Amino acid sequence: MSNEDFDFDLFVIGTGPGGEGAAMQACKGGLRVGVAERYRQIGGGCTHWGTIPSKALRYTITSTMNVLKNPVFRELGIHASPTMEQLRRGTEAIIGKQVSMRQSFYDRNNVPIISGQARFVDENTISIDEGERIRSRSFVIATGARPYHPSDVDFAHPRIFDSDTILQLEEKPSSITIYGAGVVGVEYASMFRNLGIKVNLVNTRSSLLEFLDDEIVDALSYHLRDQGVVIRHNESVDRIEGHDDGVVLHLKSGKQLKTDILLWANGRTGNTDDLGLENVGLEPNGRGQLEVDEKFQTAKSHIYAVGDVIGYPSLASAAYTQGRAAGMHILGRKDGNLRINDIPTGIYTSPEISSVGKTERELTAACVPYEVGQSQFKSLARAQIIGATVGMLKILFHRDTLEVLGVHCFGANASEIIHIGQSVMNSKCHNLEYFTETTFNYPTMAEAYRVAALNGMNRLF
Ligand SMILES: Cc1cc2nc3c(=O)[nH]c(=O)nc-3n(C[C@H](O)[C@H](O)[C@H](O)COP(=O)(O)OP(=O)(O)OC[C@H]3O[C@@H](n4cnc5c(N)ncnc54)[C@H](O)[C@@H]3O)c2cc1C
Repeated sequence: MSNEDFDFDLFVIGTGPGGEGAAMQACKGGLRVGVAERYRQIGGGCTHWGTIPSKALRYTITSTMNVLKNPVFRELGIHASPTMEQLRRGTEAIIGKQVSMRQSFYDRNNVPIISGQARFVDENTISIDEGERIRSRSFVIATGARPYHPSDVDFAHPRIFDSDTILQLEEKPSSITIYGAGVVGVEYASMFRNLGIKVNLVNTRSSLLEFLDDEIVDALSYHLRDQGVVIRHNESVDRIEGHDDGVVLHLKSGKQLKTDILLWANGRTGNTDDLGLENVGLEPNGRGQLEVDEKFQTAKSHIYAVGDVIGYPSLASAAYTQGRAAGMHILGRKDGNLRINDIPTGIYTSPEISSVGKTERELTAACVPYEVGQSQFKSLARAQIIGATVGMLKILFHRDTLEVLGVHCFGANASEIIHIGQSVMNSKCHNLEYFTETTFNYPTMAEAYRVAALNGMNRLF
């Protein structure tokens, strides 16, 4: 078919990081690209109800509470309790800035954004809101995911929330139960506890965030408990009762937890149900997710899928890279140097957690002879100066080649600090000596790498 048969070379569904990455990569490569978005503004769940609002709210809560807990303010007799509305105000401004900046990317690159729900009519045609028809040579599905809603939980009840609706919370509760202790659950547990709210964190598994290094998981559990979060492992929901004065969570173990509100943070479903996939012969799995190959192609080679709609790792960071990779493949290029599988974790609890590469558990299972170098933040001058002494950095390295195999960090700015380790792991000089032979600024948190590397070297014999 000729170019005239198609309105676009690529049509992207969704304007979150996955869709944006694909659209920008493809248009810069010279393709005619169009985009559909059903929400009233671009930016995706990432900008409006996921990453950006939750991180902005976390920042506001942490900085406000740090000021209010400061002994100088206490001495002055300043006691204040900001309302949810006040805490949210900054978030709205940041969302506004993100939307207008991202809109300018599409405008500058002449990528039209078509407002409405996109739905496949046939293999090369989509409809917008069941009306306008658009034909494209290829597609990227970047429709994201939403919180999973079991049918027996009444999400219309004013005291029962999911991770999308919790951001609209009008009044500060005095207690909350969070059901589900994945990344979203532990981040909100940390945030609400910082506000002085009583928190029950109910985990369906035997430990928190099992994909992390064991020592980091232990540290997270210790600090959450130390801050007053009540964690219950190995529990599962029997039923949830919403009342006028609170919510009761009945667990299969027979326990009952009553709090002012409940946040359901257990599972997500890919946004595929209204996409007309049956008209193109694609079938999502039971979680609404699409299967893709290493090029992000679905079973239909001209239809790609990226981001949360394909499941793990369900991170904005990864969605953007996946979108760019799909864009490159559509342009007929290899994604060459894009490190699709080199994805750091960043978990914005208090203390913050971040890691890259292998864990001790994985290295032990693979019989890799590794050694560990550690640096405790409490020994770093910078940490002492800024009062951020809780935390540590841990480098795992091969004891023969000194290759850095993994870096695990918790404490202030962990999600920034980790990138030094990630860069070294990916550079030509990917071994521990980089850290022992390099002069670091002093005093800095980055100095933790030198301290940890020397500590590790000292363990070798
Ligand atoms: C509370 C919370 C905190 C998070 N924190 C982080 C974090 O700190 N770091 C991180 O990396 N990730 C974080 N994430 C995950 C991150 O938000 C997602 O991984 C990311 O948004 C996925 O991007 P996406 O492009 O796949 O989808 P989304 O950002 O969800 O965008 C999908 C877009 O598609 C649109 N759409 C859907 N169907 C259609 C259709 N049929 N037609 C037209 N438009 C459609 C939607 O309206 C939406 O705008 C967090 C998530 C949550 C819920």
